[in-house]
Amino acid sequence: MKLQQVSDNCFAVLNDKNRVCDANSGLINRGGGVVIDTQSDLFHARRMIELFGKVWPGMPKRVINTHEDGDHVWGNQLFEGAEIIAHRTVPDRMKQVADPQESQKLLGGVDHLLPRLLLKTMHPGVLAIGRQLKQDYDFEGIRLVLPTTLFDERHVLDLDGMEVHLIYVGPCHQIGDTIVHVPSERVVFAGDVIFRACTPMGWTGTYEKWLRTLDLIIWLDPEVIVPGHGPVCGIEGAMEMKAYLEYVREESQRCFGQGLSALDASKKIDFGPYGGWRGPARLYMNVERAYREFRHEAADAPWDHAKVFDAVRTVAQARGIEVEF
Ligand SMILES: [Zn+2]
Repeated sequence: MKLQQVSDNCFAVLNDKNRVCDANSGLINRGGGVVIDTQSDLFHARRMIELFGKVWPGMPKRVINTHEDGDHVWGNQLFEGAEIIAHRTVPDRMKQVADPQESQKLLGGVDHLLPRLLLKTMHPGVLAIGRQLKQDYDFEGIRLVLPTTLFDERHVLDLDGMEVHLIYVGPCHQIGDTIVHVPSERVVFAGDVIFRACTPMGWTGTYEKWLRTLDLIIWLDPEVIVPGHGPVCGIEGAMEMKAYLEYVREESQRCFGQGLSALDASKKIDFGPYGGWRGPARLYMNVERAYREFRHEAADAPWDHAKVFDAVRTVAQARGIEVEF
C-alpha cells in the first residue's frame, strides 16, 4: 500500500496489486479530517490509518462509505466515535451484501480438506477466489459498523470553509454509489464508479445510470480522480470507463442477438484494448449485466455469487489466461 498526495488537502491510499478487494481510501485533511472508504480487512485498515497518520494529526472525525461493498466498509470499526456518512440505502444493503461471516467461512474452507474438496467439485471458481484472497486478506475480527448519518440526493460538508459535496449517483455499480467532490481542489473520489487498469465489477445498477454518472464526473471537470480501484487518474479515467462499458454493452448486444449465452459471449468477445487490465475475465459480470437488461430483468435481481466466480474462472480457462479475480 502507498500514500499519495493528490491536491493541497486530499490524499489517497492505494493498493498495489489491484485485484478484487484491493480498494482505495481517501483522506481530506481539514475540518477534523474525513476518510473515504475503510479497506477490506483490519490489517489493511490499520495500515491505511498508519499511512494517513503521516499527514494528519489524529483520528478523523468523519468517515464516508462510497457504497455498501465489504471492501469499502470493513475497516469502519476502527474509527470509533467518528460520524459515518453514506447514502440512505447503505446500512440495509451492507447487511445483505457485506456480511463478513460469509467471507470468513470462505477463507476458512480453503484451508480444510473436506470443504476444499466440496468447493473444488461444486464451485471451482469459489475455491479459486478464496485462494487468491487468502494471499492478502484475513477477514477475522471484522464486525459490521453501519453508517449513522444518512442522506438522499446530496450532502454538503463544511471543512473549515472548504466545501465537500457528496453526490448520490446510484444505482450504477451498486445501489448506494456516492461520489465525493471537492470543488476547490478539483478532486473527485469516485468510489467504484471508476475502476482503473482493472476490469470493473458491477453488481446492482444499470448501464444507463453508470454512463450518465461518468458524464457527470467529466462535467465536474476534476483535475484528479481517485478511483475505487486502481491508480489515481485524470478525466481520461472516466472516459476510458465509459468507452469500456459502451464497448461491452455493444458486443454483448451482438452476441445476445446471435443467441449466445452470457458465458459463451464472454469467451468470445475480444478484450480489445482492455486485455491488459487486471482480471480481464471479470468481463463475464459486465456481459451478464447487459444480458439482464436485454432480458428486461430487474436491475436489483440478486446475484448468485458462486455462479459468477465459477463463470469468471471458466472464461479465463477457455481463453487460456491466468485465473484472476
Ligand atoms: Zn470495490
